[in-house]
Amino acid sequence: MNLYLDANATEPLRPAARQAVLEALDCLGNPSSVHAEGRAARQLLERARGTIATRFGGRARDLVFTAGATEANALALHGLGQGRRLLAGATEHPAILRAAPGIETLPVLADGTIDLAALERALAQGGPALLCLMAAHNETGVLHPLAEAAALCRAHGALLHVDAVQMAGRLPLDLAALGADSLALSAHKLGGPKGAGALLLRPGLDLPALLPGGGQERGRRGGTEALPAIAGFAAAVAALDPESEAPRLAALRDRIEAALGLETAGAGAPRLPNTTCLVLPGVAAETQVIALDLAGAQVSAGAACSSGKVAASAALLAMGLGEKAGHAIRVSLPWNAPDDAAERFIALHRAMQQRLARRG
Ligand code: PLP
Repeated sequence: MNLYLDANATEPLRPAARQAVLEALDCLGNPSSVHAEGRAARQLLERARGTIATRFGGRARDLVFTAGATEANALALHGLGQGRRLLAGATEHPAILRAAPGIETLPVLADGTIDLAALERALAQGGPALLCLMAAHNETGVLHPLAEAAALCRAHGALLHVDAVQMAGRLPLDLAALGADSLALSAHKLGGPKGAGALLLRPGLDLPALLPGGGQERGRRGGTEALPAIAGFAAAVAALDPESEAPRLAALRDRIEAALGLETAGAGAPRLPNTTCLVLPGVAAETQVIALDLAGAQVSAGAACSSGKVAASAALLAMGLGEKAGHAIRVSLPWNAPDDAAERFIALHRAMQQRLARRG
């Protein structure tokens, strides 16, 4: 039986999300139309907005729907970053690092967390800034010290945008409690459908549109909202249960790490419960990914979003892994990982190591 261990690329659809998508496909109206069909669509849209915003510690009116987190990140950088220096951790996702020219990157420590002393120096260098930091890393699962980063930003008059794509649904997440100014979210990373995301703003924060279009989303993002994807997004959010899923997945992850005994990138830092980044020295990550895929287990190497291309991970290089950055695979357990996922993966990995050793 297939063993899907690439949840950080995309999570399996939750049944409630699937149901909500199917039902919303039959919702005829455009949410901007004033007639009865439009009002019904608007009602569905606003219910979804409320569900998602309140779940992540914000207000419905401060949530802007987008086509995904790539767009939500770009919207934050271009909208909130206007007239500000743009700062980002060196291990941020390309959806941040490639969203705007002139982003200054800040070093991370060997465990993958942001170097707070370097951040403080950068913030003190003058000029209002926008700092972009991910809540949890897509390759290593490493959690940045966001409370400390938020305090430094406040002290220096900087805004903090958090790419919360990998944290949402896996650990408790609350915009207000974090002290951040905005959060980027993606439906398909938490068990919703692909093609919907959101930017959740701190109350009172103004956001100029990247795509003004017809003035949808309170003038902050033009374009007819993708109602089926958004309905599925909200249903997935309502079904999230990190309190029970996280300990189960962490136990499976810990079992894999203990049994294989490999170097694990970011192991010294707090991490997501479902993610491990395992180094097999001397074996290209691509070789491992292909071998495991042939054996029936899907994992990934490098940045998952670099669609098909497997290069040494820039994030692992920034953490100082050197050559080993090209020998690391990411194993990310989905919310519905079977209870025997760890034992099955361990067996497949050991068999792969033996085959590769025989091959010399
Ligand atoms: N940010 C992070 C940390 C991600 O892992 C990803 C996807 O891999 C994205 C942003 C982009 O999300 P989306 O696929 O919704 O555009």
